[in-house]
Amino acid sequence: MKRRDFFEKSGCGLATVFLAHFGLTSCKKAEEPEAAPEVPAQEAPVEEISRKDMVKKMLVEKKGMTAEEADDMIVQLEEKLPMVKDMCICKTCPTYVADETEVGFCHALVGKSKIITEEKGCNCPTCPVYKDMSLKNGYYCTRKSEMEQEMAKMEEPAE
Ligand code: SF4
Ligand code: SF4
Repeated sequence: MKRRDFFEKSGCGLATVFLAHFGLTSCKKAEEPEAAPEVPAQEAPVEEISRKDMVKKMLVEKKGMTAEEADDMIVQLEEKLPMVKDMCICKTCPTYVADETEVGFCHALVGKSKIITEEKGCNCPTCPVYKDMSLKNGYYCTRKSEMEQEMAKMEEPAE
């Protein structure tokens, strides 16, 4: 192969080869993919952001709220969350496991556990939060938050 053919076929012009020789640029074939840029570290926990987004989506799409109304609701949920976690009695429940640290699974911004999978009884109906917030379901650690369980019922086909 002639030298000129080689440069054309390899995608390297003479100027590129010249610069590459001095470490000023690389000589790559056109089809060689560029390395993906490094993704900067997230400032807020990813899980918290995605959970809020999921709740907002649910409020807008399934409850018919405007984006502003959904944002207001999320602010109210955030305000209630510390109280729910303080009053939660999940840690006294037979279903709770030693590896879990989260509580307040009934709350929309918490949702189901990533660790608990086996249902062995649910103490939720005896919890003060359950009564105060007129909750209707249970096993929030395995079956998702009150809001998600209620929304799932709305989607069930009528018998
Ligand atoms: S109702 Fe259940 S999940 Fe909710 S705070 Fe009480 S014990 Fe915890
Ligand atoms: S959500 Fe209900 S079943 Fe799950 S740990 Fe709490 S009290 Fe127990």
